[in-house]
Amino acid sequence: MTVVAIDGPAGSGKSTIAAALAERLGFAHVDTGAYYRAGTLAVLRSGIDLRDGAGCARVIGDLTIERRAGRTLVDGVDVEDDIRGPEVTATVSAVSAHPAVRAALLGAQRAAVSPAGAVVEGRDVGSVVVPDADLKVWLTASPLERAARRAAQVGTADADAIATHADSIKRRDADDASQMLRSTGAIEIDTTGVAVDEIVSRLVRLAQRAGTAGGDRA
Ligand code: C5P
Repeated sequence: MTVVAIDGPAGSGKSTIAAALAERLGFAHVDTGAYYRAGTLAVLRSGIDLRDGAGCARVIGDLTIERRAGRTLVDGVDVEDDIRGPEVTATVSAVSAHPAVRAALLGAQRAAVSPAGAVVEGRDVGSVVVPDADLKVWLTASPLERAARRAAQVGTADADAIATHADSIKRRDADDASQMLRSTGAIEIDTTGVAVDEIVSRLVRLAQRAGTAGGDRA
């Protein structure tokens, strides 16, 4: 198996870096967070109590969640835009904290890891989803930079907006603490102030050294 596991908190650069790295290596890109978001959307729509772990897991266990061309499908319906919205973002940590929910999604996440090569991103990929990944990376960034990135994603660089994002990131870090399981073998990379291309090039070299990639296709 040829797998790069990229874990880290919200705003650490995971998604951008994982997508670019997958492209460079010609690997599949697996976004495990999308599965939690899709499951959370279904739970919200079902009206079930978010604190009911077994109930949430039942709702989620009945779903077919797929990722195609960077979009997320639930039972064949594209929900990509809905799962990135504020309602799901505000509740996904509570739903994904239930061990039964995590167990319900693990099989689909692992099934998405192509044997031909995959860059898999999340919070617990190197420790739980693919513990035998060839290369494990833990990304970090300063709290200010993480908030500024989130604000930029919604098209603003306004100081008040950045402060609001900083608050919500802090809250999500606290809510995600139990599922942020850094693997002991992970290489830590601080992405603060570093260009995406530079980090991706470094990861390509590390992946080649770890024996996961024959050559850079870029
Ligand atoms: O990566 P993203 O921010 O889209 O993840 C959304 C949420 O899904 C996280 O805040 C976390 O609660 C949950 N998650 C998780 N384990 C993963 C990936 C995401 O618990 N491997």
